[in-house]
Amino acid sequence: MFRGLVLEKDDDGVVTNRIGDLDEADLPEGDVTVAVEYSTVNYKDGLAITNSSPVVRSFPMVPGIDFAGTVLHSDYDFLASGDRVVLNGWGLGETRWGGYAAKARVPGDWLVFVPDAFTTQQAMAIGTAGYTAMLSIMELEEHDVTPDKGPIIVTGASGGVGSMAIALAAKLGYEVVASTGRLQETDYLKSLGASEVIDRAEFSGDPKPLGRAKWAGAIDAVGSNTLANILATTKDDGCVAACGLAQGSDLSTSVMPFILRGVTLAGINSVTVQLARRRLAWERLAHDLPIERLDEMTTVEPLSALPRLAEEILAGQIRGRVVIDVNA
Ligand code: NDP
Repeated sequence: MFRGLVLEKDDDGVVTNRIGDLDEADLPEGDVTVAVEYSTVNYKDGLAITNSSPVVRSFPMVPGIDFAGTVLHSDYDFLASGDRVVLNGWGLGETRWGGYAAKARVPGDWLVFVPDAFTTQQAMAIGTAGYTAMLSIMELEEHDVTPDKGPIIVTGASGGVGSMAIALAAKLGYEVVASTGRLQETDYLKSLGASEVIDRAEFSGDPKPLGRAKWAGAIDAVGSNTLANILATTKDDGCVAACGLAQGSDLSTSVMPFILRGVTLAGINSVTVQLARRRLAWERLAHDLPIERLDEMTTVEPLSALPRLAEEILAGQIRGRVVIDVNA
């Protein structure tokens, strides 16, 4: 038996969560069993735990879209017991049991080694948010948005993806403008590396087809009008990496940024990225993330805090990253 948080659905469709003992025999199929040490709180986990969006596809479900831990048993050729591993996405916590439990069983080719530079706790302080921020920066680089091209903007700046994107991009030499609804976090955002902090209200209203071109690139965790306004103010040949929907999943824009400025809208889906690119993203994190910034943006909480944290992340009240110690 091992401890975890499980979501259950009753005959009336009501979803409840409980922390208790789970049976190893109930773990899903997979060739690697992992002793999970840490998971995190992502926006999608908030949706799952509160059942406010149909994220979870089968019950009972252990939520948690990511984890880091140590291999207990492996029938997979490239992993052995004692290896430190991290997993992001692949439907974890949605279609198969995820990270909010002391054990997980998964296919070996979903797992990436934790880089030597990180402890398993730091790997989860980075978590899916940091990995998604890295994928977004890689996308900008591949579209030739280099630091010399001008400022980039990061939306949802005080959140997990936003905080990580600012720290990474600033370390890489970009001039980073942070857009936030929490101007009281200006000192925090500047400490991560933002050169300017602006009120997100500037972007949340109805978009115009085009505005004054300001951004060489953008990492947008917010979607909706914000994304449309960012597209309309992106410079010639700029690139906007769209990874989130904290304002909304709608997007009402025009073709003007694309046909008059050659702007690229690049979608980021961290869930099903193939192994080679995952490994590259984690190697880049080990190299490019200012580790000293990680502690500033991280808090560690026990499993029992998850129901509260789920509400808080959906209300946009969490700053930076929350790591869950699944054994606490
Ligand atoms: P957080 O809740 O930590 O961050 C979201 C931030 O968005 C908030 O902190 C807030 O920042 C801002 N925000 C919240 N509500 C609104 C609103 N109504 N209008 C404008 N801004 C708002 O979540 P994460 O960082 O974990 O995730 C961010 C987004 O990225 C989510 O939508 C998530 O689903 C998505 N995501 C996508 C992935 C992918 O693979 N594509 C992977 C990981 C996350 P502030 O207070 O600074 O304004």
